[in-house]
Amino acid sequence: MKMCLECSKELSKDEIGINKKMLGKNTKEFLCIDCLSRFLNTDTEILQEKIIQFKEEGCTLF
Ligand SMILES: [Zn+2]
Repeated sequence: MKMCLECSKELSKDEIGINKKMLGKNTKEFLCIDCLSRFLNTDTEILQEKIIQFKEEGCTLF
């Protein structure tokens, strides 16, 4: 199980997927959705929407 680099929270498959999508496929460092939204200077709601959007597109990372 992967954990958030910042707060050590356990990460869901969706969170790992959005990290790969936003930070690049080969990223080895993962952030939970809260820390990722802070890192990217955006809202968690926007990231949640992106996860849904990527799933609908049938992205293989999810
Ligand atoms: Zn975190």
